[in-house]
Amino acid sequence: MSTYSAPLEDIAFSLRHVADLDGLARLPPWAEVGLDHTEDLLAEAGRLASEVMAPINQLGDRVGSVADGAGNVTTPEGFRAAYQQYAKSGWTAVSADPEYGGAGFPLLVDVAIQEMFTSANMAFSLCPMLSQSAIGAISAHGTASQQQRWLPPLISGAWTGTMLLTEPQAGSDVGALATRAERQGDGSYRLWGQKIFITWGEHDMADNIVHCVLARTPDAPSGTRGISLFIVPKHTVEAGGKLGQRNAVRCIGLEDKVGIHASPTCVMELDGAVGELVGEECEGMGLMFTMMNKARLLVGLEGLAIAERSYQQAAAFAAERRQGRRHGTGPGEQAPIVEHPDVRRMLLDMRARTEAMRGLLFLNAAAHDRAAAHPDPASRRAAQQRAELLTPVSKAWCTDQGVEVAGVGIQIHGGMGFIEETGAAQHWRDSRIAPIYEGTNGIQAIDLVGRKLPMDNGAPLAALLEEMAGLEQNLDQAISAVAQSARWLAAHPGDDSLAGAAPFLEMLGLTVGGWVMARAGAAAEQGQAEEPRRAGFWRAKQTSSRFFLDQILPSAPALVPAVTAGAAALG
Ligand SMILES: Cc1cc2nc3c(=O)[nH]c(=O)nc-3n(C[C@H](O)[C@H](O)[C@H](O)COP(=O)(O)OP(=O)(O)OC[C@H]3O[C@@H](n4cnc5c(N)ncnc54)[C@H](O)[C@@H]3O)c2cc1C
Repeated sequence: MSTYSAPLEDIAFSLRHVADLDGLARLPPWAEVGLDHTEDLLAEAGRLASEVMAPINQLGDRVGSVADGAGNVTTPEGFRAAYQQYAKSGWTAVSADPEYGGAGFPLLVDVAIQEMFTSANMAFSLCPMLSQSAIGAISAHGTASQQQRWLPPLISGAWTGTMLLTEPQAGSDVGALATRAERQGDGSYRLWGQKIFITWGEHDMADNIVHCVLARTPDAPSGTRGISLFIVPKHTVEAGGKLGQRNAVRCIGLEDKVGIHASPTCVMELDGAVGELVGEECEGMGLMFTMMNKARLLVGLEGLAIAERSYQQAAAFAAERRQGRRHGTGPGEQAPIVEHPDVRRMLLDMRARTEAMRGLLFLNAAAHDRAAAHPDPASRRAAQQRAELLTPVSKAWCTDQGVEVAGVGIQIHGGMGFIEETGAAQHWRDSRIAPIYEGTNGIQAIDLVGRKLPMDNGAPLAALLEEMAGLEQNLDQAISAVAQSARWLAAHPGDDSLAGAAPFLEMLGLTVGGWVMARAGAAAEQGQAEEPRRAGFWRAKQTSSRFFLDQILPSAPALVPAVTAGAAALG
């Protein structure tokens, strides 16, 4: 069985040297919370991840969640107990509002913690992740009374949350959804329709489930302008918070999937279910947009988390498995495969990409935090733009990297990688959903090129490129390629720029990855001088930095022809 060991030293390094946690800690809301204890918190989360969640990951994959046909879903053995432990320790509350029981930590710290839970057991981690989305929606847009009713049990983890958007004819095109919501005499609503692919839509880990549902009111305009957001609980809630009747929203089937088997992916039927409106009628899509950035960041995190887990497993396997002899040695014992340069190359490739993802995602999370908390309005605005620019890159580049790295992990195992028993293939299968949900990576690229590059006449990208320049020769070449490509895209709107959007996103992902790795290399050099007793750690960081800059980053400028080929090249 594959084990997981929380990479606490690596996470602490990226928090401090890439994402500037110390700078965040000086901002007003966190000066009091005490971010000094972040490392203790990470260690505690790492223990739960490695000792409780990781051991049930492979079993969860093999057994999966099961529906009984009567609307109930049973999770694999150990999941309910693990969730109770997770909730009791307060992990859903890390970055939530202290007024409703949250701990008020920055999103950056929450993201670092969630990396470990997701590495340990991605299928499990999706449940609290969806709760966070529901918390985000209600915190940002609910009335005071909705916040008082729904937030405390969601934040404590007593209840979980979901997002019900997708319907058979409405996937990427959410505006095509048809679920109907009708206002009742008492101001409540009743909803009818069918939603598909709903993550953790039904389960046995918590007493209630708070569904956030997108639906259409009678006479609403067509498309996204006619969508409203509703809270539809599994059990209605009486005054005082007591659970009331079972609501008419139920799971009528589970999907049989490629991966994340323990995460129930439900077909949900709403048959006159009681719901309450969030915000105003027809505002639903706008409300969802405000929380999409965070949800997309958390899905990007799945790419990093799976890559880290695959790397750990491949490295352990490579140290054990013996095959062949090292080049240049005489007859004798077979060598561990880690001694073969090609296996070392694969391992370093996995590690370098993983570290680059961590840097990018942590930077993105820190930008969200600065956007929310910086006392200076201009800094808040710049941070908000930085967060918005990086979000599609974090989601799409990291989830693509996650699949790639998990694939290399299988390769290092040789034939055993293709055999389920080792667990290497599970990571690859689990990782494969992340480029698809929460807006496919194709849609992320369109968002980057169509919405994010033109923001403020291109100022956010220009500011990022300026900040990245002058550190490193290969990085400067990548920056020039991004600048040249962005100019071309702006000059070729429509199908031509849409055809180049995905390679452009990849180019920007590689370039920001190069930037964070260049900064990590410089920090490691300084660390070596200041703290020589950790020489092995600093050397490893310098090696992965050099590898990324010399062997991975040069593919960024090589993407210019793909970005600028135009739609005609597609036939
Ligand atoms: C395991 C799993 C869990 C999920 N969890 C949830 C959940 O909890 N809640 C929820 O609401 N949904 C959930 N989903 C749904 C998920 O978000 C959608 O599957 C996803 O948004 C893609 O929609 P689709 O499957 O209809 O694909 P389509 O929209 O049909 O896309 C098919 C292909 O066409 C491309 N494409 C589509 N439109 C365009 C366009 N305009 N321009 C360019 N390319 C385009 C896409 O990029 C994709 O490559 C989940 C799905 C799965 C499989």
